[in-house]
Amino acid sequence: METNQANQEFQSDFLSVTDARQAIADLVTSSYESSGMHLRKETLPLHQCLGRILASDLLSPIDVPAHDNSAMDGYAFNSSELSDDRQDLALTIIGTLHAGQTEMPTVKSGQCIKIMTGALMPTTCDTVVPQEFTKTLSNGLVSFSSDVVRAGENRRLRGEDLQSGKAAILQGRILRPADLGLAASLGIHQLEVYQRTKVAILSSGNELCDIHESLAPGKIFDSNRYSLRACIERLGMEVIDCGIVRDNPDNLRKAFITAAQTADVIISSGGVSVGEADFTKQMMEELGEVGFWKIAMRPGRPMAFGSLKPSSSKSTPTVFFGLPGNPVAVMVTFYQFVRNALLQLNGAKWVEIPLIPVRSAVGIRKKSGRTEFQRGILFQDDRGQWAVKTTGSQGAGILRSMSEANCFIILHHDQGNIEPGDWVDVEIFDGLL
Ligand code: AMP
Ligand code: MG
Repeated sequence: METNQANQEFQSDFLSVTDARQAIADLVTSSYESSGMHLRKETLPLHQCLGRILASDLLSPIDVPAHDNSAMDGYAFNSSELSDDRQDLALTIIGTLHAGQTEMPTVKSGQCIKIMTGALMPTTCDTVVPQEFTKTLSNGLVSFSSDVVRAGENRRLRGEDLQSGKAAILQGRILRPADLGLAASLGIHQLEVYQRTKVAILSSGNELCDIHESLAPGKIFDSNRYSLRACIERLGMEVIDCGIVRDNPDNLRKAFITAAQTADVIISSGGVSVGEADFTKQMMEELGEVGFWKIAMRPGRPMAFGSLKPSSSKSTPTVFFGLPGNPVAVMVTFYQFVRNALLQLNGAKWVEIPLIPVRSAVGIRKKSGRTEFQRGILFQDDRGQWAVKTTGSQGAGILRSMSEANCFIILHHDQGNIEPGDWVDVEIFDGLL
């Protein structure tokens, strides 16, 4: 009787994607705030920092630019030479300044100096007239009209981009190529980043076969550990591969206890659907606080989430995600729920992925009351405009659909059928930088 009630409870309310995200964010925030364990720091040479998360604000040790300098190739002069009446003026060229040159001739009234982009501005000059607006005269003079340049133009001021002592990159930034270039431009050769979150992965299922074994009848290759591992490594985190675990309470218990000792997070796939989840559920009640959810989404309905109690050697709980077994559902739930949580646990601040509206080239059947994550292909139509179509059959086991897709088409909870030409939101798989 009690089991029936529990089952009914398990099958009852569907959680919306939004509520599931919120519940995960809340738990992550509380475990993140209650312990510094996930946020160990390390200092690395700049070239090893790509994709890592900055652990403290990077303060600029210098003004950028360090000196007033020219933004153009042209002639530097004092703006008091300019007149209001659009007249041509002619100035005597007293020399040339190249970038990197520190010897500064004095530019007096009636004079100018030829200057290259990046060259330091002489103290008596405040304006640069770009070369293309000027005419050199035979007698060592240059002439240009007063209305082609205004006082102060084409000069970069010392500290205009960044002042010494000000933050150049904020703590929590996932470091991208431009950030590393920016740090280098400040003469910084190492950065303090957070140590990588350790994520244990395991696949549960009696039907699973390792890719190094030959496929026995009725078995399937375990693909989830390979897609999951790659998803986690893409986030710059460390993977602990706990292999395939057979569907029985003792094996699973052992595997979870071992993983919880070393990992900050455990991600399993399979074994959380109705029926199968019964013993996983009992076991999880022993090991920690884990909720078994049915989420109003497709693919990826069942999911378990919570924290496992620390072992004696570990003071912080291990965050646990029990993802569904279907290969597409694993990747969808990873990107929709786990990604942000992992980044947050690793100290990252900027994690949102933009939703971009695009016209659907095809009609898509969709029931309202659940969120769907269809696999989409963004392409240029006959008129050269970007549109999206689905990859075809959307079964949760068809991993080829993820492989062929270049975006998720996100059909929101309340959305119904999509007609050709309707706007849909997409999330693009690949970022540029
Ligand atoms: P489950 O959630 O355990 O009921 O699994 C749902 C479906 O996903 C079943 O068809 C499983 O065979 C398949 N599946 C589960 N785990 C994996 C895995 N690691 N690799 C590939 N397919 C899997
Ligand atoms: Mg299973």
